[in-house]
Amino acid sequence: MANTIKAEDVLQAYRGRTGCMCGCRGKYFEPESRGLAGVLRDVNARMDEATRIAPSRLNKGSIVAIDRDGKTLALYLRPGARVGFVPLYR
Ligand SMILES: [Zn+2]
Repeated sequence: MANTIKAEDVLQAYRGRTGCMCGCRGKYFEPESRGLAGVLRDVNARMDEATRIAPSRLNKGSIVAIDRDGKTLALYLRPGARVGFVPLYR
């Protein structure tokens, strides 16, 4: 496994149905929570399917996400977190 995201680099995680990310279709999880650990485990298991949204003025750290079978997993990373190579979301 070339890319593994570390728990200490994750500020927030999301799991839900693909679409609106306001929380109406899924849930956000905070560090130290079981929910975040679960999303992290699932993303790390499928890093070959992940895409990355680069940091912007809005999101200060990268976001690594997987969209699969109508579901979205997302990890909001701290600024400067190393994720190895993850292709940018188009
Ligand atoms: Zn919504």
